Amino acid sequence: MGTRVRFAPSPTGDLHIGSVRTALYNFLFARHEKATFVLRIEDTDQKRNKEEALRGITDGLAWAGLTWDEGPVFQSDRLDLYAECARRLEASGRAYWRDDPGKGRALVFRIDRRKIGWDDLVHGPSARDISADPDLVIVKSDGFPTYNFACVVDDHDMNITHVLRGDEHFANTPKQISLYRALEWAPPVFGHMPLILDPDGEKLSKRKMEKYANIGLPVVVEECRRLGYLPEAVVNFVALLGWSPGHDIELMTLDEMIRAFTPERINTTPARFLVDKLLWMNGMYIRRCALDRLTELSRPYIESAYGPQPPEKIREAVRQQQERLKRLDELALSTRFVFASRVEYDPKAVEKWLEPDGARALLAEVRKGLAAMHTMDKEGIEALLGRIVQEHQTKLGHVAQPLRVAVTGGTVSPPIHDTLEILGRDTVLARIDHALEIAGSKK
Ligand code: GLU
Repeated sequence: MGTRVRFAPSPTGDLHIGSVRTALYNFLFARHEKATFVLRIEDTDQKRNKEEALRGITDGLAWAGLTWDEGPVFQSDRLDLYAECARRLEASGRAYWRDDPGKGRALVFRIDRRKIGWDDLVHGPSARDISADPDLVIVKSDGFPTYNFACVVDDHDMNITHVLRGDEHFANTPKQISLYRALEWAPPVFGHMPLILDPDGEKLSKRKMEKYANIGLPVVVEECRRLGYLPEAVVNFVALLGWSPGHDIELMTLDEMIRAFTPERINTTPARFLVDKLLWMNGMYIRRCALDRLTELSRPYIESAYGPQPPEKIREAVRQQQERLKRLDELALSTRFVFASRVEYDPKAVEKWLEPDGARALLAEVRKGLAAMHTMDKEGIEALLGRIVQEHQTKLGHVAQPLRVAVTGGTVSPPIHDTLEILGRDTVLARIDHALEIAGSKK
């Protein structure tokens, strides 16, 4: 059947960033090896309905661009298979029923009382002595199999050849190998990828979600979207959380990653989630993004803040921000001067640039020039500002900054001609008049 790998998430409603990495590494391995990639939903623990359980997973995988070849296979559809294997273990004396107080009767597997070794794809030769471990519950009192049992039965039944999963399952592996031996099956090759730590050096935890959101660290795919990360940036970033291609190039397409991916290059030490790096990568991918696509991705961020807007205006606003943007959700603020109906003046900016002596006179002169211009375009605007700078023997900042504050309310905006052009002359002149009034009234 050839090489076969699987991604086997438990359906928790959304796709965790660690699961994205597990799916990605299995995907890269499968595509690199021309292997088959199976999606299996481990839903014997969850009381959700199937569609609901699947949606968070398939939405997340689709968003990340990760495709699979077989499945989804649901464990809840395969209870007969687990029951049959449980009977075999019972018949051979390797499993017995036990009354667990308060929990009912469970089927328990007698684990091997010895040291179990395996050649880990990532860690190399590995071994653990499980002789002191308790026996393993394989069927719970509700009749459902436990993770370790269903996982072994399925990996065998689906002819999985390589199991690539997180280090949190390292301790399960010798128990699972013990089950393979008892069922007289050959175990697959195991590889365990390192834990992902948060910037504090702690395991990523759903309980710190709010803190993570504040620093821009997405824990689940939904959060990646909400914060305005592009899928290709997240995938590239996650790929390097515990794997390295063996050269210094960090920005890689999925195809480049597929070509370079070998599990031997997965690190054995925990990976730390560095938000600054993700931000940097996202900025790089935003700059590379075709404007049409970036506009489509950006629209929800702008329209949720300011309501429906003309497509051309959104496109131009996005074009103006593309170079400096690190996350799409920044657009709500950085395009406020374009889409909000009223300017909010930053008192500090007004004090610094509009109140000093002479500032308003210069601004009034700019206004006159703009009003008299045939068409208000880049050349005309630059020529006008240049002429005023010359005539008054001053610096460009002393002419452009008061103008910027007058039309945007603050000191940061795209190049001044872009800023004026996207607003249009009527709005520009009205805002200058308004600014002159407020600044004047303070004197
Ligand atoms: N459902 C398990 C998990 O999500 C799968 C572990 C495995 O890959 O064996 O952690």
